[in-house]
Amino acid sequence: MKDDTCIFCRIAAGEIPSKTLYEDDEFRVILDLGPATKGHALILPKNHYRNLFELPKEQAEKAIVLAKKMALRMQEKLHCDGLNLVQNNGETAGQTVFHFHIHLIPRYEGDGQVIGWKPGKPEDAELEAVRKTIAE
Ligand code: AMP
Ligand code: ZN
Repeated sequence: MKDDTCIFCRIAAGEIPSKTLYEDDEFRVILDLGPATKGHALILPKNHYRNLFELPKEQAEKAIVLAKKMALRMQEKLHCDGLNLVQNNGETAGQTVFHFHIHLIPRYEGDGQVIGWKPGKPEDAELEAVRKTIAE
């Protein structure tokens, strides 16, 4: 389940050095080399899945539990004021490394980072049409 051509597989396996914050049999958590803020980290499964669509349910469950654990640790150790979980899937969504990962981005008052989107202003009918498409 490891892809030798994938940099995150190689980092997760320990073949490429990283600033590791946590490791177990299935995951490694590392500091991002291009951090948005102090403590910006990435949760990497050791097995190769390209994105959330491919990630098995059990791995998804474990990843979010690990995200919570790391978030609490960051709050305790870094005294961050908030934290963003970011998880990109597909080039269109901003994914640049095609090995599933969750960004943990601690936030500090006045850190100047912008993680967001431009809000739309849909009519109710448009929202309802989308709701139907997804829910039914
Ligand atoms: P994404 O755009 O969601 O695919 O995020 C990829 C992230 O991986 C970016 O925030 C990069 O800064 C980070 N990154 C890329 N290569 C490395 C590396 N070798 N070690 C740590 N972080 C990396
Ligand atoms: Zn990989």
